[in-house]
Amino acid sequence: MHLKTLTLRGFKSFASATTLKFEPGITCVVGPNGSGKSNVVDALAWVMGEQGAKALRGGNMADVVFAGTSSRPALGRAEVSLTIDNTDGALPIDYSEVTISRTLFRSGGSEYAINGTACRLLDIQELLSDTGMGRQMHVIVGQGQLDAVLHATPEERRGFIEEAAGVLKHRRRKDKALRKLETMAGNLNRLEDLTAEIR
Ligand code: ATP
Repeated sequence: MHLKTLTLRGFKSFASATTLKFEPGITCVVGPNGSGKSNVVDALAWVMGEQGAKALRGGNMADVVFAGTSSRPALGRAEVSLTIDNTDGALPIDYSEVTISRTLFRSGGSEYAINGTACRLLDIQELLSDTGMGRQMHVIVGQGQLDAVLHATPEERRGFIEEAAGVLKHRRRKDKALRKLETMAGNLNRLEDLTAEIR
């Protein structure tokens, strides 16, 4: 599995559609200060489901939409698509190439898609979760992050290991199932009360 292309359109400083092609091996992005190198990494994290504006170096999520310059008006939406080569079947989906996309409208709503079909954020998180490209993004090592790992509490370190081992996916599913059970128990109580009243 390797990343093939990343396309940004209206994302941060990338107003026009821009596609980066990654060949197998090491890719370096070089450029002067402020030319958008980190924005490329932000786009990668964002399309994989990053939800924290701070992690994307913004105040709120709408800050990822191209804000305009003196020569170009602001745009109404940001779009990022990431195409992943899946010939080795590392992603649990029956396609040799998988494109995940995320769109955010300045006015609010956001959309996610897998190979052009609309989906939920959860679907993207689950698709990536066994590959190590999970929600907590240990594939992206930011400045100072190694220090953070070294100074993490044992619980936090366990979180890193669980994410890498794919355990968190099951923990999330378990939490969801427990919440459903709680709702069902509440409904059952109400039903029993109603039945008692009717009798
Ligand atoms: P450095 O080498 O200094 O770390 P860099 O190449 O990593 O720089 P980035 O931090 O990726 O640069 O890009 C910063 C640029 O992106 C700034 O010029 C900033 O104005 C621009 N930028 C960030 N968000 C937006 C936005 N929403 N709309 C337009 N431009 C933006």
